[in-house]
Amino acid sequence: MTKSADVVIVGGGIVGSSIAYHLTDQGCRNVLVLEREAQQGRGSTGKSMGGVRAQFSTAVNIQMSLYSIPFLANFEELTGRPSAYKAQGYLFVATTERHLEYLRANRARQLESGFNGAELLGPEDVLRIVPQLRSDDLAGGSFCATDGFVDPYSVMNGFAARALERGARLEKGVEVTAILQDQSGVNAVETTRGRVETRTVVNAAGPWAAEVARMAGVKLPVEPLRRMLVPTEPFPQISHQAPMTVDMATGFHFRPEGLGLLLAWSDPDEKPGFRTSFDSAFVEKILMRAVQRIPCLESLQVNPARGWAGLYEMTPDHHSILGPVPQAPGFFLANGFSGHGVMHSPATGKIVADLILHGTTSLVDARALGIERFSEGRFLEETAVL
Ligand SMILES: Cc1cc2nc3c(=O)[nH]c(=O)nc-3n(C[C@H](O)[C@H](O)[C@H](O)COP(=O)(O)OP(=O)(O)OC[C@H]3O[C@@H](n4cnc5c(N)ncnc54)[C@H](O)[C@@H]3O)c2cc1C
Repeated sequence: MTKSADVVIVGGGIVGSSIAYHLTDQGCRNVLVLEREAQQGRGSTGKSMGGVRAQFSTAVNIQMSLYSIPFLANFEELTGRPSAYKAQGYLFVATTERHLEYLRANRARQLESGFNGAELLGPEDVLRIVPQLRSDDLAGGSFCATDGFVDPYSVMNGFAARALERGARLEKGVEVTAILQDQSGVNAVETTRGRVETRTVVNAAGPWAAEVARMAGVKLPVEPLRRMLVPTEPFPQISHQAPMTVDMATGFHFRPEGLGLLLAWSDPDEKPGFRTSFDSAFVEKILMRAVQRIPCLESLQVNPARGWAGLYEMTPDHHSILGPVPQAPGFFLANGFSGHGVMHSPATGKIVADLILHGTTSLVDARALGIERFSEGRFLEETAVL
C-alpha cells in the first residue's frame, strides 16, 4: 500500500477518475485513487443512463456542459479509449404554454452563456423527430442535436486508464475510514490498509459523500435518492436513432438502448436513503406514463427482472458542490451532481484539478459551486432536472 501522495482521491467512479485524469494532464503525477470496491463502477456510475446535454437552465450547468460535451465527443483522441458518445440529441416535448415559456427562458439563458445549439420547435417539427408521439395536445418542444448519450463505464475506464498511464495509482478494495488534520489542515487518510500521508484529499465518493465529508468534520448536504431504470425487450417501432425524449408533463423520458428502449421516470414518492433494490411495482407506474405520451408503447414487452436501481446524489439546489472547504484546508469536494455526474464529469475533473493546482479556474465561477453557498444563502436553482 502506498504510504504518501500529493493528492488522494476517495472514490474511483467516473468523477474520481476524471479528476485523476485532469490532475495528471496538468503534470501532477503523484495522485492516488482509493476505491473500496474490488472493481470500479459499482457506485452510481455503473447504474447511470448515460445522458449528456447542454439544455440546462443555469449558466454554470450550461458552461460545464460546453466543456464536457466536446470532450466526450473527442474522448478517443484525448484518452485513447471510446466514450461511445451518440449525438442523437435530447428532445423536450411541451404540452402546455407554461412548458413553452420555460423552454424559451432556458434558451435565452443558454444564448447568454454562449450556447446556441438548442432550437425551439413547433408541434410538426417535434413529430418529425419522434413521429410516434401523441399529437393532439402537443404544443412544441426544444431539441439540441449535440446532446445525446455515452457509455458511463467506458468513460470512467478511459479517464482512469490514461491517468494511470501518466503515473497516477489506483488501489481497489481499500476503504478510507478517517481523514486526519493538523493545524495546517489535512495531513493523512486512514484506510483499511493503513495510513497514507497527504496534504490534499478529494471527496469523490458519490452517494456516500456525506459520510466521507463527516470524516473531515464537514457537514455536506448530499443525500442519496433511489432512481430506477427499465430496459425493454426489442421494440422496432421506434427508431434506434431516436433522441432522449422527455415528456415535460410527467418527467417520463426514454432513449434507445440496444434493440429496445431504456425508460426512466423520477417517482416523487421516493424518499432519500441507500436502498438500491428494484421495485417491480415501478414497471406499471412508468409504463402508464410512457403510454400516455407514446400510445404505441402499449405493446412494449418488459421483463421486470432486467430493471435496476442506483442512487442519485442530491443537493438542496440540484447543483454539484465543488472545490475547497474553508474550514478544512486541503479537503476538496466533487459531489452532489443531482443526476448530472456522468455528463459533467469532464468539467468537474478540470475544475477540481484547476482549484487544487492553481486555486482558481477559468471554466466557471467556482465560487457559485462552493459549499459556502449554503451558509451564505446563495442557492442556485436548476429546474431542468430529470
Ligand atoms: C439510475 C441513474 C441514472 C442516471 N442517469 C444519468 C444520466 O443520464 N446522465 C448523467 O450525467 N448522470 C446520470 N446519473 C448520475 C450519475 O450516474 C452520477 O452522478 C455519477 O455516476 C457520479 O459519479 P461519482 O464518481 O461521483 O460516484 P460513484 O460512481 O458512486 O463513485 C463513487 C465511488 O466512491 C467509492 N467510495 C465511497 N466511499 C468510499 C470510501 N470511504 N473509501 C473508498 N471508496 C469509497 C464507491 O465505492 C464508489 O465506487 C444517473 C444515476 C442513476 C443512479
